[in-house]
Amino acid sequence: KQITIAIDGFSSTGKSTVAKQLAKHLGYIYVDSGAMYRAVTWFAMQNQFIGASYFHIQDLIDHLDQISINFKFNPELGFAEVYLNGNNIEKDIRTMEVSSFVSPVAEISEVRKLLVKQQQKMGESKGIVMDGRDIGTVVFPDAELKLFMTASAETRANRRFQELISRGDEVNFEQVLHNVQERDFIDSNRKDSPLVKANDAIEIDNSNLSLEEQFNKILQLVEN
Ligand code: C5P
Repeated sequence: KQITIAIDGFSSTGKSTVAKQLAKHLGYIYVDSGAMYRAVTWFAMQNQFIGASYFHIQDLIDHLDQISINFKFNPELGFAEVYLNGNNIEKDIRTMEVSSFVSPVAEISEVRKLLVKQQQKMGESKGIVMDGRDIGTVVFPDAELKLFMTASAETRANRRFQELISRGDEVNFEQVLHNVQERDFIDSNRKDSPLVKANDAIEIDNSNLSLEEQFNKILQLVEN
């Protein structure tokens, strides 16, 4: 029987890594809900609704109907890349700049309403792994398996730092740590669906787990 798996947690806890592994192993669809918030942020940047010194929230809200987000599976990468209005923006949305604007964008109720609706639609077909911040609480409150991933802030910042460096981005560790902490604060304190562990979610602290240990542990949960 195919199920719905919801994976939530703070920034850079390795949610997407384990979600991709699981989806591949189970033959499920993987959806990166954070990529959708990043896509809206990218759209806002492109249209100059958000920048270093301004944030025209109402303009963004007024233009939300011009946003079409799609995922297309890339067999070479083994996961689905995100498209905004037909353009592949998978790489563009992973920059520090997008990361610095995304949490304020994700605070907007109209943005959340729009994306949650699309995410729930994708979940109508069972056999889905979705990761994010409100998947087990808001998007799929009835998910058969809910995981809540945690790791120390330093572990997480270090992971994100290595990721950015390996892409050739020029960032320093302090900057990345600050961004991770700031996003966690905004995500946990916003009014609309803040990041909290669902009552029935299983918490996994992976600070000291190898990828393999973590995967085996989660696979056991899926099989039970
Ligand atoms: O998962 P990722 O770190 O790419 O998410 C980027 C940001 O998008 C988060 O920091 C959060 O502000 C927002 N987000 C959210 N709800 C989700 C997924 C992501 O608010 N379900």
